[in-house]
Amino acid sequence: QAKKDGRNTYRYHTAALSIAANERLRVENRLRHALAAEELVLHYQPLIDARTRCVVGVEALVRWQPLGEAIVSPGKFIPVAEETGLIVPLGEWVLRTACKQARAWIDAGLPRLVMAVNLSVRQFQSENLIGMVQRILEETQLPANCLELELTESMFMEQVERSIKTLNKLKALGVNLAIDDFGTGYSSLIYLKRFPIDKLKIDQSFVRDLADDPNDREIAATIIAMARGLKLNVLAEGIESEQQLDFLRQHDCDYYQGYLFHRPVPADELETWLRKNSTLQ
Ligand code: C2E
Ligand code: MG
Ligand code: MG
Ligand code: MG
Repeated sequence: QAKKDGRNTYRYHTAALSIAANERLRVENRLRHALAAEELVLHYQPLIDARTRCVVGVEALVRWQPLGEAIVSPGKFIPVAEETGLIVPLGEWVLRTACKQARAWIDAGLPRLVMAVNLSVRQFQSENLIGMVQRILEETQLPANCLELELTESMFMEQVERSIKTLNKLKALGVNLAIDDFGTGYSSLIYLKRFPIDKLKIDQSFVRDLADDPNDREIAATIIAMARGLKLNVLAEGIESEQQLDFLRQHDCDYYQGYLFHRPVPADELETWLRKNSTLQ
């Protein structure tokens, strides 16, 4: 429905918008189908204990593998899922699949791992979050302390008091809570003290240039020291080089994650790797 409008700029603008809207609708429909057609898979990336160098957990990262097409990364479809509300069933599928997998690895006799799962804003604000987590833990018989939920600072911004209640309820279930991408949101240090958080994950943007950016070095060192002071665990994301690792080791970071150790891989691939490597421990 073209509006009569003489201004090219306006017409250009609406055209661009409707392309964006069409594209979004297309992705939304395909994503809805993907969820039903089981085109989503989880990959798992090891989390390493700095002291023992052992794998102590994995982070579940969702991928979309449309039949006969290349894998789509979550950066492309999580925002659409979030906007459309599809993130709620998608997020539930992720949590259930990850918890089932963690249980299966326990049953297979592998060393006990913490399963870290990302939550989205909508999921965090959903009335059903606590019930869903509780139900999935019961269903899969995964001990609550084997689950870690990754949240981001931006989730807490709007309703601080309500967020604290939600976090307390999650803690009461016995799950671990981590703040993901730490340092990129609006971190209020007051919240950190009031929130029942177990771990900070230093965002990979601060890790990337550790070797040559003095500011990033300062930020990373400060986050680690602050975590230590607040008795929180701290993990560095996106470690790719020995230089980055050296710095983080010198500053006594508790946990490591990154391509230097392992890329995110499908469950069977990780299991094979864990079997080979757990005998070394
Ligand atoms: P994130 O939770 O911060 O996950 C870490 C991201 O860094 C992952 O990207 C991982 O593959 C990547 N990564 C790990 N090590 C390295 C490294 O050494 N170098 C570099 N350059 N990257 C590394 P991925 O899998 O593409 O996921 C991107 C984001 O999408 C995640 O960031 C998370 O915010 C979101 N996401 C992924 N899976 C889920 C999910 O199941 N639910 C929700 N709500 N969000 C998810
Ligand atoms: Mg994460
Ligand atoms: Mg992150
Ligand atoms: Mg992220």
